[in-house]
Amino acid sequence: MTIDGARVMSGPTFSVINPATGETFGAAPDCTRDQLDDAMQAAAETFETWRRDESSRRQLLLNCAEALTRQAAELAELLTREQGKPLPKAAGEIAGAAKWFTYTAGLEIPIDVALDNDRVRVEVRRRPHGVVAAITPWNYPVSLAVWKIAPALLAGNTVVLKPSPYTPLTTLRMGAILRDVLPSGVLNVISGGDELGALLTTHPKVRKISFTGSVATGKLVAAAAASDLKRVTLELGGNDPAILLPDVDVSRVAKRLFWGAFENCGQVCSAIKRVYVPHSLSGQLLSELGDVARGVQVGDGFVAGTQIGPLNNRPQFERVQELVEDAKQAGAKVVAGGHRLTGHGYFYAPTIVGDVSDGIRVVDEEQFGPVLPVVSYVDLEDAIARANATHFGLSGSVWSSDATRAQEVAAQLECGTVWVNQHLNVVPHAPFGGAKWSGLGVENGPWGLLGFTELQTINVAKG
Ligand code: NAD
Repeated sequence: MTIDGARVMSGPTFSVINPATGETFGAAPDCTRDQLDDAMQAAAETFETWRRDESSRRQLLLNCAEALTRQAAELAELLTREQGKPLPKAAGEIAGAAKWFTYTAGLEIPIDVALDNDRVRVEVRRRPHGVVAAITPWNYPVSLAVWKIAPALLAGNTVVLKPSPYTPLTTLRMGAILRDVLPSGVLNVISGGDELGALLTTHPKVRKISFTGSVATGKLVAAAAASDLKRVTLELGGNDPAILLPDVDVSRVAKRLFWGAFENCGQVCSAIKRVYVPHSLSGQLLSELGDVARGVQVGDGFVAGTQIGPLNNRPQFERVQELVEDAKQAGAKVVAGGHRLTGHGYFYAPTIVGDVSDGIRVVDEEQFGPVLPVVSYVDLEDAIARANATHFGLSGSVWSSDATRAQEVAAQLECGTVWVNQHLNVVPHAPFGGAKWSGLGVENGPWGLLGFTELQTINVAKG
């Protein structure tokens, strides 16, 4: 772990499993209570100096980007080993993290003038919170950590970061690499189980919690934050609909739809989780999606040509099987996949499911795996209503030959991001966050940066 700029070991450790083999390949420190206090103390003490010099913080973020780029090959290998994604995708995640550092370094922390007249000048400034607790999930451990670290640090906060117990190693390694870049205490990286996450959210030194994970845990985080009124940003789960309009060219969009759902083995918060297609196009869509699904290379992320790796962990692997079995019982038609693959890893065949409707678990719940239910509709207004009839509201997409018409439908979706004729194009420039139970606040762009600040009004009398 990295605590106050030093390499810290712990007595107890926990195992880390390679999901491609199902076997333990490493261990991570299980941070003790005292070590957590040390990390918090270091972050709190460093805050007083770190907050003062914005231009040096900017430069240091650029240096972080360079350091990650230099060590990209090593980080990507470790990421594939613990997360399962194909090696080129892991390399893409590290490159993306470096890009996020660079982009964030260029953001302004604005001072707004609210009023300037003969009597007063009223400025609105932004102050950092202090110590930020950053908690991340296992699907994109590095990039989602950097979405938090970069803006938190630029705004003048210090950070204590805890990755998921399923994927702690690449994040710990990133902490070690950045130890040589950042002043001691600015970024502390610790590892442990879910209980450690809970301890972070109640720690008295923390002023802001930036959390990415499931809705259930997000609610626990919000409740834990309440008694101390810690600020929170929550990036939570989704059950994202893709709506195809009647004029869509199915052959043109089938492959893009497929990858909008199956990227990272379907383990993307904002992946397509259900498709609504006009009844008349449903047969063609199922057949084309089935063809793509059967042609994809599933395997160990280290094997050249692998397009989809294993699910990351056993509970998730079992959950996906359970949802597909439930759909089969309910009379769903499995067009492709529908079964686990042989071997010891958590491999599941890319699965396309037809003859399903709202009310079946795989449609109503976040599957977070390589399964896509296709729901047919007759009336577009009804499809939009069904797409919105959920507590989730992370993202969605609308597909049509007429982009203007698609945008009209997009505006009716109750979610944080809507894509048109694409899905999953996330850029550092735009806010990303969920409506309803999918989140609170946003990350990325100037909006995400300002989430790591508190407003301060300075009202100066003239004369
Ligand atoms: P999770 O909620 O189980 O765990 C996320 C993190 O929270 C882990 O580090 C975990 O150790 C920690 N944690 C667990 N209990 C805690 C507690 N009581 N207090 C504080 N921290 C605690 O989620 P997961 O299974 O790791 O990730 C998958 C979920 O994350 C999916 O629902 C997915 O949609 C969501 N996700 C959302 C986004 C987004 O940006 N909206 C991005 C990626 C993943």
